Amino acid sequence: MNVIQHKLAQWPGETSVSVRNLTVSYGSHVALDRLSIDVARGLFLVLLGPSGCGKSTLLNAIAGLIDAHAGEIWISGRDVTYAEPKDRGIGMVFQSYALYPRMTVAQNMGFGLKISGMPKPEVARRVRQAAELLRLEKLLSRLPAELSGGQRQRVAIGRALVRHVDVFLFDEPLSNLDAQLRADLRLEIKRLHLALGNTMIYVTHDQVEAMTLADKIAIMKDGVIQQTGSPTEVYNRPVNRFVASFLGSPSMSFLAGRLTSWEGRLAARLGNCLLPLDGYSFGRSDARGDIEVTVGIRPEHVRLGEFMPAVCRDAGMAPLRGEVTLVEPMGAETIIWTELGGQPLAIRASADATLRVGDQIEFAPDVRRVSLFDATSGERL
Ligand code: ADP
Repeated sequence: MNVIQHKLAQWPGETSVSVRNLTVSYGSHVALDRLSIDVARGLFLVLLGPSGCGKSTLLNAIAGLIDAHAGEIWISGRDVTYAEPKDRGIGMVFQSYALYPRMTVAQNMGFGLKISGMPKPEVARRVRQAAELLRLEKLLSRLPAELSGGQRQRVAIGRALVRHVDVFLFDEPLSNLDAQLRADLRLEIKRLHLALGNTMIYVTHDQVEAMTLADKIAIMKDGVIQQTGSPTEVYNRPVNRFVASFLGSPSMSFLAGRLTSWEGRLAARLGNCLLPLDGYSFGRSDARGDIEVTVGIRPEHVRLGEFMPAVCRDAGMAPLRGEVTLVEPMGAETIIWTELGGQPLAIRASADATLRVGDQIEFAPDVRRVSLFDATSGERL
């Protein structure tokens, strides 16, 4: 059994953190309104959303750093809604590592245990163990000033690890690091999760961190969880336009159109083109009418140089054609911009595509993989 299968086998039925109808307000501002979420034991859950959507509020409420105004929080089968943070069985890692400048790495990591009265040899054992996991063994006698940002954040993670808790909470732990260190430490955290198998709840506004780290992502907007699912689920079947626009770089192209029936088939009318929607799997059975829609197409779901029969007013039944309006080389790939029905469409092409602005192209969106949204509500159809 590989590690992933092992983790999956541990999941069913075992809830580690349960947030039930949680309401948190700051004065008259309701930041979370009756929010509920269950986190299975051993799961890496990422709370993702734009700044101000309530991610930190939710994490801090789970940690006990903010009071719940209504609702309950359960951790490892205990109602901890009114418990002190230190009694909740959690370890927390913040964006700012806030290490004691005059203490060594080892002292910083062991300080919390020491003041709780733990015998010295046990503190030393746990610090050594955490240092090994975080590859900090050689740095134990250094002061924080003698460490890089990434190493300091590893010490901050170590400070949480030594507590041997069931649940780790991370609040944007990589935000203060530069791009390379961020990528390195992201891998370290993923490795750590695989090694420990603890429940981890991780707040970020960075979709790459969310996609790469998470077993499950909960995408939040205005204090409300919009969708919870595996990275693949939320990426491929976003429940609404907000979720669709938040994931993916370059992002999904959104084309305004009208759902219409054409020769007994469903099609989207986009400008002067009719795009047949054969193979699109509707999530809503009532999605049959003549309604305004937004067609969401990811750049990698359009093939260049392929024949896609569509009905275009100027050309009758014809392949989709367009002119290259912009070329964006990204290193590993090139993004080609064109227009469909008069609206911008991005196409992910290979890095050695030699297209130039003004070139004529033929292309074919994979309609089985597009997303259709009700233009008014933004909900997936
Ligand atoms: P995020 O972590 O997603 O950026 P927060 O949880 O920090 O969002 O904030 C959620 C909402 O609550 C925001 O509208 C924010 O302005 C507000 N808020 C957060 N902390 C406070 C506070 N201490 N006092 C008043 N409003 C706050």
